[in-house]
Amino acid sequence: MKYIAILGSTGSIGTQTLEVVRAQQDIKVTALSAGDNIDLLEQQIREFRPALAAVKTEEKAKELALRISDLNIPVLSGMDGLMAVACEKKAEVLVTAIVGMLGIRPTIAAIEAGKDIALANKETLVTAGHIIMPLAKKCGVRILPVDSEHSAIFQSLNGEKEHGNKIDKILLTASGGPFRGMSREELSQVRLEDALKHPNWVMGRKITIDSATLVNKGLEVMEAKWLFDVELDQIQVVVHPQSVIHSMVQYEDGAIIAQLGTPDMKLPIQYALYYPERRYLPGDRLDFWKLKEITFEKPDTDTFLGLPLAFQAARTGGSMPTVFNAANERAVSKFLHRKIRFLDIYDIISDAME
Ligand code: NDP
Repeated sequence: MKYIAILGSTGSIGTQTLEVVRAQQDIKVTALSAGDNIDLLEQQIREFRPALAAVKTEEKAKELALRISDLNIPVLSGMDGLMAVACEKKAEVLVTAIVGMLGIRPTIAAIEAGKDIALANKETLVTAGHIIMPLAKKCGVRILPVDSEHSAIFQSLNGEKEHGNKIDKILLTASGGPFRGMSREELSQVRLEDALKHPNWVMGRKITIDSATLVNKGLEVMEAKWLFDVELDQIQVVVHPQSVIHSMVQYEDGAIIAQLGTPDMKLPIQYALYYPERRYLPGDRLDFWKLKEITFEKPDTDTFLGLPLAFQAARTGGSMPTVFNAANERAVSKFLHRKIRFLDIYDIISDAME
């Protein structure tokens, strides 16, 4: 039996993690956390019977505790709740499916408590990679990537490092998002509804906007730097609109190893939970006869400033990646509340960095 805890169980990654758990017979969920969605969390608690649960506010915690009073499962709130879920005694793996920098403290606490991390929450590595990676090494815990691109890189690296083979370059693929090919002028007119329509993936609202601005790809560049210990110059972003190649690694001899598949986050989630074992996963398989073509482009960094700003933040180092990320979290939240326009996101980030 494998024991896991989940931060953010009501979100896109959280619910897909529970789908994987449901399909397997040998995983037990020991702790669940959510923000506001206590209806879904109640259903999850009744189905998976964790030892404890946590929500965003004390008010919601009281309401949920009342609803599940027949179960004798404690419900905590705020950062204390997240920390308790992260450190739940029996859990061996913490799935960090919470969104934003909020994930930093619980992730650090889980590492200190000896839990492996199935990491979806990229903002944690972008802002605190310098703390998390050495700490994980010191505590002997594994950081297992859930992000599809990083899982693809991880899979493409399988066994190579053990043979002493060095990475020459990481080829990080990007779909280009819903606005690929648009001019700056066209971007000035886009609405929230348009930005929330990702062509290939159904994801949480924040990462969907990050994908439209290409900030997500910038965050992923920084995530890759920490996870795979490479220099920024070794990471090349390649736009690949079909999202079939999830990323690639080029070795010193020029060989490129890639991981391909239909876009389905359950694959990287399951791979992280069972690494190095591969298990059956239902779903569509790639059909190369139907696929016909896969294409590649250079990212338009003159229009989609999320990517060059991220490279600038990463090159500056120090606290600049945190400034980049914090400004973006704030700007995306404003955009989601219709308080600013799409292109204002770039201005807010670059003003903060300035
Ligand atoms: P969602 O917005 O779908 O889910 C976020 C989760 O965090 C929800 O359970 C939400 O609870 C919870 N949450 C939000 N705010 C708080 C808070 N203040 N306190 C406690 N819990 C909170 O996000 P995603 O699942 O899309 O993304 C999660 C992370 O994974 C992000 O870092 C993202 O970048 C990364 N990721 C996501 C991918 C995807 O396909 N979705 C792919 C690769 C990476 P509630 O809904 O109850 O309010």
